[in-house]
Amino acid sequence: MIRVSHLSAFYDGAGKDKNERVTALEDLSLEVPKGGTCAIIGPSGCGKSTLLRILAGIASNYEGEVSVAGASVDPKALSIGFIPQNYGLLPWKTVRDNIRLSWKVKHPESPVPPDEKSMLARLGVDAELLSRFPRELSGGQQQRASLARAFLLRPDVLLMDEPFSALDAITREEMQEVFFELWRAQAVTAVIVTHDIEEALYLGQSVVVLSPAPGSVSAVLDNPYFARRETSGDFAAEKARLRSWLTGKGAPV
Ligand code: ADP
Ligand code: MG
Repeated sequence: MIRVSHLSAFYDGAGKDKNERVTALEDLSLEVPKGGTCAIIGPSGCGKSTLLRILAGIASNYEGEVSVAGASVDPKALSIGFIPQNYGLLPWKTVRDNIRLSWKVKHPESPVPPDEKSMLARLGVDAELLSRFPRELSGGQQQRASLARAFLLRPDVLLMDEPFSALDAITREEMQEVFFELWRAQAVTAVIVTHDIEEALYLGQSVVVLSPAPGSVSAVLDNPYFARRETSGDFAAEKARLRSWLTGKGAPV
């Protein structure tokens, strides 16, 4: 479903003297099968958010091949659900208007998404919450609103940038379960960026470890711990292995 090959990404006019080229990603290749989940972990600044923006079709500062569903990425042709790092809710719109936004852009002829009611019930977003503004919500509530907006679109591809990192442990686990429930129901292809090893092992059927900047793939794990809350010794060993890849102290595979 998603195929990235030999991707390099640049920011021109960045760096110290404002006319340097900063290389954010270098020769990065990965694949995510249709309906699969891929967790991407890597150190801060290695280009994870850049990669998601490219997959979302909202950044074009790259070279290499990026294809989604067999064609070059085109947000007009595909439904792409993108949850940016700060949830991306518009502060001047109510929760209700925020939730309907992506759907409305895609389907201007029918402003209300068809399964809005059941989706909101599932996510625990009630009428009172719908009339509030984003600044009046807790982190968990903002997360629910952004998940609702993305899933109501019935996206072909869902891209999430550190979606649960600002949440407390209990809320994070709860939201991970909500994500799984919706992912199973819609069979969406999902890419989840995280800096949390345990979260990557829980959410990713494959786990891709990126190198420090400029990011490229330093390891890919076909993850046996996917969707399992695991505490065994093997799990601890796998976590240690991922940590050593992440810190560049392990042998790449
Ligand atoms: P990550 O999400 O892994 O922390 P980013 O993709 O945000 O990494 O950033 C990768 C690199 O690209 C960093 O060096 C960052 O400073 C640079 N970068 C990101 N966005 C911009 C931008 N809009 N202009 C210039 N440089 C940027
Ligand atoms: Mg980022």
